[in-house]
Amino acid sequence: MSGRYHVLVVAAGRGSRAGTGLPKQFRTLAGRPLIARTLQVFLERDDVGAVVTVIHEDDRALFTEAVEGFDPAVRMRLGPPAMGGATRQDSVRAGLEALVERGAGGDDLVLIHDGARPFVSEALVSRAVEGARISGAAVPGCPVFDTMKTIDGDGQVTGTPDRRSLRAVQTPQAFRLNLIRDAHRRAREQGRQDLTDDAAVAEFAGHVVTVFDGEPGNMKVTTSADFQAAELRLSAVLSDIRTGQGFDVHSFTDGDHVWLGGIRIPHDRSLSGHSDADVVLHALTDAILGAIGDGDIGSHFPPSEARWKGASSDIFLRHAVKLVRARGGAIASLNATVVCEMPKVGPHREAMRARIAEIAGIAANRVGVTATTSERMGFTGRGEGIVAWGLATIRLPQEPD
Ligand code: MG
Repeated sequence: MSGRYHVLVVAAGRGSRAGTGLPKQFRTLAGRPLIARTLQVFLERDDVGAVVTVIHEDDRALFTEAVEGFDPAVRMRLGPPAMGGATRQDSVRAGLEALVERGAGGDDLVLIHDGARPFVSEALVSRAVEGARISGAAVPGCPVFDTMKTIDGDGQVTGTPDRRSLRAVQTPQAFRLNLIRDAHRRAREQGRQDLTDDAAVAEFAGHVVTVFDGEPGNMKVTTSADFQAAELRLSAVLSDIRTGQGFDVHSFTDGDHVWLGGIRIPHDRSLSGHSDADVVLHALTDAILGAIGDGDIGSHFPPSEARWKGASSDIFLRHAVKLVRARGGAIASLNATVVCEMPKVGPHREAMRARIAEIAGIAANRVGVTATTSERMGFTGRGEGIVAWGLATIRLPQEPD
């Protein structure tokens, strides 16, 4: 049998039990959408075929945003998402059909994984592939250590099953593609929409399903408490903390507004520059690039290139943030200090913080904007221009030096 395997990541649920309005798979976990963290595990493997994500139709924009942090080559490999249906079974079926459309063969293997399980390990993926290769249908399971009870509708205990014969089942569940595709079709034809995992679909169709060792750490992030626990785990992983500094200055010229921190502020002068001359966004961009040791704004966006003329500077900051995310990192904080006599920055501080946070894809409480005059001394004191300092703190995954 061919060794090819593909991955179906199911992320079409509407569940927002975790508290915000967003479906949980698109919520941010340590600065990065949960679904992006899950996808990363599979996209990093050299031996994987297609990786298809199934999402809800309403979440197209959320998905596009979530995968923006991947570098273009990885995003290309990911391809467009498949659109899910009303139930999980409908969504998996749609994803399996999408895989076939993308060239997956019936004898290939497919790993079906919950989008909300970002801690799936390399070893677990390998065991899933191996399990399906041997039996055609294999799922990860963990022993249960609590005593289990069955109960009736009134909450009365009806039995105490032997826990040694029980397993708590996780994903990725791995199957021969034809086997699980046919099983899903049959379940649909016979009106069975109550099957809660793909193993149950295979069992319904009469297949033997085997269990391999799951991992207790392969948690499904569902509730607010799960998100907190997951944040704690990731903070242990993202332990390589780096700081970068940026500085920028632009001089005044004729005009009626300045751009500061992505906000248009009316003023009796403008700042001159090749782009929109937003000193705050430039200083923050350099701070992030400095923190990862990846050149500076001038090396990424040469002023000699005409396409950056008049450019809106959020492009620069967004690019620097993407470079951090591409390394699996997160922005811990951004701080900008503006030095000028005029315009007054204070009245615009909150708008600037909100805009910078939006561009960087982080919470506004991770952004600070401070301002001062230079007591009428020096070129800022004489009103010849505006200075901005930027400071970025980022967290990268710990790697050996
Ligand atoms: Mg500049």
